[in-house]
Amino acid sequence: MTFPNSSSSTAVPYRSTARITPGGAWLGETPAAWMTPVTSPNAVAVSTSACTDSREDTSTIAVLTSTRPVQLVTVGDVPLDGCKTGGKASERGGAVAVGLTNWSGNLAYRADSLHYPTSVVEVQELVARLPRVKALGTRHSFNTIADSPGGALISLSELAPEVTIDAEAMTVSVTGGTRYGVLAAELQSRGYALHNTGSLPHISVAGATATGTHGSGDRNGILSTAVSAVELVKADGSLVSVDRSNPDLKALAVGLGAFGVITRLVLDIQPTYLVRQDVYRNAPWDTVLEAFDAVMASAYSVSLIGDFGSPEIHELWQKARVESVRDADEQPEPVPESLYGGTWYDDAEAPPDHTLNVRAGIAGPWSERLPHFRLDAPPSAGGDELQTEYFVERRHAVNALGTLRSLGDRISPHLHATEIRTAAADDLWLSPAYERDSLCIGFTWRKHPTEVMALLPDIEAALAAYDPRPHWGKLFTIGDEDLGRRFPRLPEFLELTTTYDPTGKFSKAGDPPTAG
Ligand SMILES: Cc1cc2nc3c(=O)[nH]c(=O)nc-3n(C[C@H](O)[C@H](O)[C@H](O)COP(=O)(O)OP(=O)(O)OC[C@H]3O[C@@H](n4cnc5c(N)ncnc54)[C@H](O)[C@@H]3O)c2cc1C
Repeated sequence: MTFPNSSSSTAVPYRSTARITPGGAWLGETPAAWMTPVTSPNAVAVSTSACTDSREDTSTIAVLTSTRPVQLVTVGDVPLDGCKTGGKASERGGAVAVGLTNWSGNLAYRADSLHYPTSVVEVQELVARLPRVKALGTRHSFNTIADSPGGALISLSELAPEVTIDAEAMTVSVTGGTRYGVLAAELQSRGYALHNTGSLPHISVAGATATGTHGSGDRNGILSTAVSAVELVKADGSLVSVDRSNPDLKALAVGLGAFGVITRLVLDIQPTYLVRQDVYRNAPWDTVLEAFDAVMASAYSVSLIGDFGSPEIHELWQKARVESVRDADEQPEPVPESLYGGTWYDDAEAPPDHTLNVRAGIAGPWSERLPHFRLDAPPSAGGDELQTEYFVERRHAVNALGTLRSLGDRISPHLHATEIRTAAADDLWLSPAYERDSLCIGFTWRKHPTEVMALLPDIEAALAAYDPRPHWGKLFTIGDEDLGRRFPRLPEFLELTTTYDPTGKFSKAGDPPTAG
């Protein structure tokens, strides 16, 4: 098995925007400049997944990127009647994956084919038949972790979510390809909640948990800590269930896609709760670092959004659980105007098309406050970005942040923003928070792949004293030796993959793992 670090990066030179309408398929360099229908045989097939996963996230627009000029074509009698209403992927020629990129567009998958099974039995048949295969989530990872060079990819986006709640066990069972936002809305509508979410609701449950995706909160474990069971298709095509009574679950819950295709997950749930978000702007780094533990403990989930090259943290976000309905009133309870040198900010006047969930102290369901971004809008920098994240042990937090501030003048020119969060220690083998209460230091980079990839080794060297563990779905250059030291259960993890996948069908990458 090789790991998805990021020793090189491939720019994707061509990008086109496609509009798919009942009248046909159209290409243009920008959404405003539609061109005539495309009929070239040198073509890219568009699937439902490509449409709904696009940065625009509308039903009729897809962004396609490729290492060659993109051409769009219908396959056979593919019904181009809009992304969300097309027939089954197989009918649409959905096994063609030429030119498919990850969400950000910083890498083109090198798999030869992409399959959209519509049943678990189909998943089993595909996995049993294909010599090399990997499950693909919503393509939000920034490195090659979801790729299967020369092999096949399997997306579960055609399997219905099938959300089943067990109110006695306080668990929910859901298909692996379901997006967190879809699951969260369903849970909320039925009076239940998850303990936490990542910043974006667009990602799939299986894909997010596979890389150790997390939110924030001193006492909140990463999302995979809620996994109480998985159902997966092993390399031989057999379907197995692994729950907490089986020690393997500690490896499978952050499994990097290396054990098989997870068709269903069972997650812990709790009664629904309300969250209010308060934002403080321009708190000085020095003031915040002096009171760092208190700052990060000041709410259920805390994020610091800023820049290491600035003397101030742009925004301190507090997401506090609100227990009483009265507090959820449209008139929020007053909070201090100033905190840690920052000033309370009312975003009520933000433009209506902004992509963030409501803040301004107005409480709302956990499902609309814990994710930073709304499901109906493109998250973050809209894909014009790269991301990196390191977990360091919490007791090193202030020193590690100080180290990064000393590199501020090198980091800032390439940074959209850093996000600092916390995660509680857990016992999942490849969790970046394995047996360590952790500080999560996230970088949302400008799309400067060459400069970012050149900078990462220096950042990693500067943080080396704190044994940083990388986020598995983001860009990093830490080598296998250091990974082995920093993830002490890695040898057992690798050993266990061979019992689920003796021939390395899911994990034999063939090439060194890269950013693109
Ligand atoms: C804008 C943005 C914001 C982000 N915010 C956060 C954040 O707040 N916190 C955080 O921790 N991360 C964050 N991430 C990273 C993101 O959560 C991870 O990269 C996540 O893994 C993406 O999920 P996905 O569904 O796109 O999976 P993919 O990227 O498609 O795949 C990731 C891995 O999951 C495996 N996989 C997918 N489906 C299955 C399956 N059915 N069975 C088995 N394995 C499977 C793949 O093989 C691969 O190894 C962010 C990313 C973006 C683009």
